[in-house]
Amino acid sequence: MDRATAFVCSRCGDEILSSSRHDCAGPDAAVHLRHDADAVRDQLDEYRQFDDSRRYAPLLPVETLDAVTLGEGGTDLVDAPSLGAELGISLQLKLEGANPTGSTKDRGSTVVAAHAVELESDVVACASTGNAAASMAAYAARSGLDCCLFVPERAPDAKAVQPLVYGADVLAVEGTYDDAHDLCERVTAASDWLDRSAGATPYTDAGARTLGYELAEQTDTVPDWVVVPMGNGGTLASAWRGLQTFADLTLVDGTPRMLGVQADGTAPIHDAVHGTASGDGETCADSIDVGTPQRQDDALAAIEESGGTAVAVSETAIRDATGALGSQEGVFVEPACAAALAGIDRARERGIIDRGEDVVAVMTGSGLKDTATARTVVDSPETVDTETDPATIARRYSSDSA
Ligand SMILES: *Cc1c(COP(=O)(O)O)cnc(C)c1O
Ligand SMILES: [Zn+2]
Repeated sequence: MDRATAFVCSRCGDEILSSSRHDCAGPDAAVHLRHDADAVRDQLDEYRQFDDSRRYAPLLPVETLDAVTLGEGGTDLVDAPSLGAELGISLQLKLEGANPTGSTKDRGSTVVAAHAVELESDVVACASTGNAAASMAAYAARSGLDCCLFVPERAPDAKAVQPLVYGADVLAVEGTYDDAHDLCERVTAASDWLDRSAGATPYTDAGARTLGYELAEQTDTVPDWVVVPMGNGGTLASAWRGLQTFADLTLVDGTPRMLGVQADGTAPIHDAVHGTASGDGETCADSIDVGTPQRQDDALAAIEESGGTAVAVSETAIRDATGALGSQEGVFVEPACAAALAGIDRARERGIIDRGEDVVAVMTGSGLKDTATARTVVDSPETVDTETDPATIARRYSSDSA
């Protein structure tokens, strides 16, 4: 099928072809879709009927997605009635932790891997706080690519172990995420490796936009707010472009406002929105612990164009939100997602989000990614000896129900 869409690099203006190399590194390395709206709408319909799992193929700048899929995307959007009532809003959660490697990063990795296959590239690299690295490793394994990863040495254990199981080389960089990113950039500049790091290739962004396409299709009416935790800012920026594309195609009636959330300790995008300077601290939300965001300009543009804003939240609020999501909604997320929920609370307090508004919060990654931090918000399991009288255990909820 001929494409109704051309993909143009927003940095150099060239058309992007998956079978040739395009290394436009930089904060604005995004793709523009140049399309004929009627033709795209028709193709979206055709693909959906032909294979629902490839429903967004007409909007992706690669040809061979079949080769490298693990079933990413198509995640559920569920109601959060208990937390919604508490916050005085209608709240839904997009469960991105259900992606094959446990985070939203799989949306970008599948497209980068497909591109690498089309290019006949042998090696793919990625600097990451952990999830993009684990994700790229899985898709590299799937497509027979070597994979070299740069993660900060203090990444949560699961995020270092997971890519090792996928057979990747994991370099634990002595320093922060920003140091890991710099080293990866220097290595890829001196080699012909394809770089999946944030901002390094427009293919990541193209894949990540499927989050926005899905949100546009899954919500009955356009929500008032979509809330996304921000590290490099790419997840929010790409989701916004996806939402905007569906509105441009008149497949939906408009766009939500984007609320970006960062942690008080590391809040450069928040600070750029508000002209403030937050403390140079740390956060338990490692996925958004990014001092120099690679997609900051894109994120700022998304926030501005959508009529949104940014908030920052405390470590205590992040920890409390982790427990609330688990115990009230049955949703176990890593701290970055808990930050998004805490951000909604903050935005309600400050009158940014009004009572009764429709809010979608993107739960970007699974809680199993960082059980060490989760452990700090719960009590330890009780130890019981095997001789304990069963009746004493069986009675434990009786006073609650009486
Ligand atoms: C990557 C990631 C984020 C932040 O995305 P950016 O593109 O860096 O802003 C948030 N949460 C999780 C779980 C992530 O993996
Ligand atoms: Zn370019």
